[in-house]
Formats: sequence, C-alpha cells, structure tokens
Amino acid sequence: MSDDPNGQSGAEAAVAAHYGMLLGIHSPWRVRKADLDLVARKVEIVVEHEPDELVACPQCGARCPRHDHAPERTWRHLDVMQFTTLIRAKVPRANCPQHGVGTVRAPWAEPNSRFTLLFEAFAVQVIQASRSLTQAAELLRLDWDGVQRILDRAVQRGLTRRSTAGLRYVGLDEKSFGRGQNYVSLMTDLKGQRVLEVVEGRDTEQAMALWESLPQAQRELVEAAAMDMGADFAAATREAAPRAQIVHDKFHVSKLLNEAVDKVRKEEHRRLLAAGDDSLKDTKFLWLQGAAPTGERALRFEQLCERNLRTARAWAYKETFLEFWDQPDVATALGFFTRWFRTVRRCKLEPLKKTALSFKQHLLGLLNYFVHPITNALTEGFNSRIQAIKADARGFRRFANYRTRILFFCGKLDLAPQLPSAFTH
Ligand SMILES: [Zn+2]
Repeated sequence: MSDDPNGQSGAEAAVAAHYGMLLGIHSPWRVRKADLDLVARKVEIVVEHEPDELVACPQCGARCPRHDHAPERTWRHLDVMQFTTLIRAKVPRANCPQHGVGTVRAPWAEPNSRFTLLFEAFAVQVIQASRSLTQAAELLRLDWDGVQRILDRAVQRGLTRRSTAGLRYVGLDEKSFGRGQNYVSLMTDLKGQRVLEVVEGRDTEQAMALWESLPQAQRELVEAAAMDMGADFAAATREAAPRAQIVHDKFHVSKLLNEAVDKVRKEEHRRLLAAGDDSLKDTKFLWLQGAAPTGERALRFEQLCERNLRTARAWAYKETFLEFWDQPDVATALGFFTRWFRTVRRCKLEPLKKTALSFKQHLLGLLNYFVHPITNALTEGFNSRIQAIKADARGFRRFANYRTRILFFCGKLDLAPQLPSAFTH
C-alpha cells in the first residue's frame, strides 16, 4: 500500500473519501479519518477544515482569517451499515474584522444541534410514522431527551416557517391535561385542519395568549371563531379580535342540553326510587343520544316514553332543538328559537329552563352559525391523536413538552431541516 502525504494508507484514504461522499462533505471541509469500533458497532468520522483555507464568518459569510478552534464536538449521524455513526470535529473560529470572533457554521448541522441535518430529517420522518414516541425512540436508538430535542427543534423550525395567510375561521377549545383538574386551551385553523397554538389553562388570559400567537394583521382578518358558551373565550375574542364573530359550537350546545336532561333524570330517578320504582336505573345513555335508540334498547326506551316521565319530556325538548341547526337562514332560525324557547319556558323542568335561558343570552352567537357555519368538530377530530399523545406520556411532565408534541403531530408544520444542496440535487 502506498502512503499519501497525510500519512494515510491508500485504503484508509479511500475509506475517508467514501465517508466524505456519504456525508456530502466537500472542500473546504474534508474527512481526515474514520475510526471504527467493531465491538461497540460505532464509527467516528473525524472531519476537519482545510488548514490553509480562509474561513467564513458565521454572521456575514465573509472570508476571514482563522482565529482558533472551538473545542471538539460530536454529532450523531445516520447509521451506516447498522453502525452508530458520529461526526467529530473541531470547528474553526473566524476572526471577522466586522463581527469579531465567531464559530464557523458546520455545513452538516444546524447551530447548537447534537445531530446532523440528515439525522434530524430522518428522525422527524421516523417519529411521524411511528405508532408512539416509545417506538420512535427505540428505532432511532435515542433517549427521551434526544427525542424531545428533535421534536423541539422541528416545531421551532415549523413555527418560524408557518404561514397563517388566508386564515378566516378559528376554533377555541379546551382539553383536560394530566391527571388532575388541569386544562389546556387550543386554537385551531378550522379550514386548514391544524392546531395553531396550545396554552396551559382556560381563562381569559390564556385565550388572549392564543389570539396573540397570530400576527396582529392576521387577527383582524379572522371572520369568525367557534367556541363554547363560557365567558372567557368570548371575552378574549372581543378584546383581541373584535372583528371576529363569535359562533357557539353546536356540539357544546348539545352537551349542555344533555347535561340538563340528565339532571332531570337524576331527580326523577331519586323520586321514583323512593316509591320503589327503579325504571330509570342505568338509563343515562338512553337519553343522551342524538336520536331515539335502536335495537334492543328501543323497546325499553319506548316504554319509558309512554309513561309521560319528566325525563322523557326533557329529552323531547332537547331533541327538538337539534332542528335548530337545520334552519335555512338567520330569520327562520330566530323564529324557530323563539318558539322553542317559549315552550321550554312554560314547562316545569328547571334544568331545561335554565339552559334555555342561557341560550337566549347567547342567542347572537347561536344565530351567527347561519352566517358562518363552523363548529369545533374538527378539534374533536384531533381528540384521538391528542389522546394518544397523552397516553404516551413518558418523558413529559412539563406542559411545554405536551405543547410541542401536539404541534408536531397536529400542527401540519414544515418540520424537516433544510438539507445542504449536496443532498438535494
Ligand atoms: Zn462577519
């Protein structure tokens, strides 16, 4: 074997050149050597900057004299032949007449990353395709801290690149978080079907923070926001996006009606039980459905309805209200509501009356549905994904990590790092 001027054998030089090609490393960088550890199944590729070349200032890119070297660092790269592959380098520091001393940017990684660009790009794909983060961590042979770093950096990249141009309809919604009575609030893009922001808590202040995640000019172009009938989301919307119309979410409305019916049922069940009648036992779900039950349950339901129970009457008022959403326009919807409201106000079912009164107080937000037919049903669609993120809770006790994961999986962000031109053509 002939030796070259760097003191390498021909074979070593060939291996170094091979890794240089694999890594897309070219002048003024070069692979000096590849250290192979067969036992640990690891290869460490030592990369260096051509010693005689000027170096680029990290701020302006001007060619400058070299000041010295930053301490040696290691980057995790894509495995080669199932060998953990690391890049090791002492990156030079430039001495720019304008910007002073600064560490040159290594072309294979983003600043401050422990991973090469290709590894990060691959890891993002693996995490997206995995059933769980546990599985992704195993496949990538990363610890939780490493996975979290990849997620953090990917979401940061995605948020910087994200455009909210054309955003017209948003949803504001809350979800429980953790084991206790903790909640998070989400803002979603209802047409683009993506989560825009997640904050901890569900008060006016947090809803303001959701709005403030949008650029001011964009906030003014939002035409309508779907939300529950709570005071907080509405107050924040009036303050932060006064031009956005408030649309009360129809699923939330149904939930309130279901709760009212169930209160009537509980009351009546107690009364009947006292008289030795347990016919309302275990019937909660019979009354919750959007339509009369079918199959075996239908018979029991019919028998209950024939007895003119208070619960059955409450159920009928609730079911009638469903037709509200099918009205063709605002005027007809207002007419329908007025008739429904009058009937319910005359009945003697207190929980229903109370709910109807609350609807009347929020009537504008209910009627706005006929101008902007939006609901948070989309956000409900994210439930299963968010549920899975919660279930895969290893590695996040902190809210910040939870937010990152929701944005990673439900934010439709452009997450991958930009690869150097050597890999893209
Ligand atoms: Zn400079």
